[in-house]
Amino acid sequence: MKLVSIRTIDSKGSRLVDPVDPGEARLVDRHAREVRYLRVSLTDRCSMRCTYCMPPQGVEHVPRSEVLSLEEVVEVVAAFARWGVARVRLTGGEPTLRRDLPWLIERLARLQVGETGRALQVVMTTNGERLEALARPLRAAGLSGLSVSLDSLDPERFAAITRRDRLTRVVKGIEAAAEAGFGLKINTVAVRGFNDDELAQLCSFAWERGATPRFIELMPMAGGQLFVPGELMPAAEIRAALAKHFDTELDAEGRPDAPVGPAHYWRSTRGRSAGRRVGIIAAMTENFCASCNRLRVSATGQLHACLARDEAGDLRGALRSGRPGALAAAVAAALGEKRERHAFELDGAGGPRKAMISIGG
Ligand code: SAM
Ligand code: SF4
Repeated sequence: MKLVSIRTIDSKGSRLVDPVDPGEARLVDRHAREVRYLRVSLTDRCSMRCTYCMPPQGVEHVPRSEVLSLEEVVEVVAAFARWGVARVRLTGGEPTLRRDLPWLIERLARLQVGETGRALQVVMTTNGERLEALARPLRAAGLSGLSVSLDSLDPERFAAITRRDRLTRVVKGIEAAAEAGFGLKINTVAVRGFNDDELAQLCSFAWERGATPRFIELMPMAGGQLFVPGELMPAAEIRAALAKHFDTELDAEGRPDAPVGPAHYWRSTRGRSAGRRVGIIAAMTENFCASCNRLRVSATGQLHACLARDEAGDLRGALRSGRPGALAAAVAAALGEKRERHAFELDGAGGPRKAMISIGG
């Protein structure tokens, strides 16, 4: 194989290989983890104010000039696709607040992974409230999967956790997405004392709409300011709550989020729900950093190698400098900083000073 260049990142040992045969292109960190998945935040703004994600007021949004344009997003994602990233997830903030989203998705869905001939898979995470109108155009543009956040089916609880009374709109959005033919996941942050009695109901709601429910452990973002340790519902407790309603076993396929991902999947084995799957994402109590395959780009083009850390590479600066190779160098440097594991602690310490909304969840 002939290589144009191999940038070996010195003592830190991460590699950004940029070969002539891009079918071999890879992003590998110094712990031998390969990056195949990129999460790109399109905005630090949101139409909701979830209590664990955003403070109730005093949120300072970055000026629009600092946010990547959609053309810049395409440029960044195209580079990652050349280096072997197979799936990109659009997130935020609330990604559906960005105008011209179908335009962006159409461009991204045309990208190839290296020169494998395989198309880049484009998926999105959303709070769902704009999906009733957007589901069809997004599907037509080439979006293949949607994860919708939904923490409660009770209107009052929903309004309490999102600080917005919009449950009906979100449910309509989920139904429109199911009708449009999306592979759907419903993501719920499990909060002890808040929605711990609703987990089975949320599973049934998702399964009835052909979606896969997933429960996420609460993480201490924003310097722990929005985190109440007693509200963290550990994965073991989530499984125990589900076991009261369903017989489950670890899904034989283990982790269908190929090639690796943070969710562990369980399969119901009895009754009407037999064969249905439920995922649990346990960053806090069942560390999955060894199989981490992702990088995150914030709305301002900061490249975060780890969700739990503030340090980030400046992709926007590299892009706007116009210097050849600047983007690759910034990516390689950030990859070199990718730590072996996160530093979240159960008492709320160890996380980043930034909130989820500004890193991009
Ligand atoms: N606005 C979109 C949404 O809500 O799906 C996308 C962005 S949101 C930041 C992405 C995901 O992060 C959501 O599923 C949300 O529940 C989750 N999230 C936000 N803050 C969190 C926290 N402190 N701990 C665990 N999950 C969190
Ligand atoms: Fe907005 Fe999503 Fe954060 Fe809720 S979790 S405030 S919907 S970005």
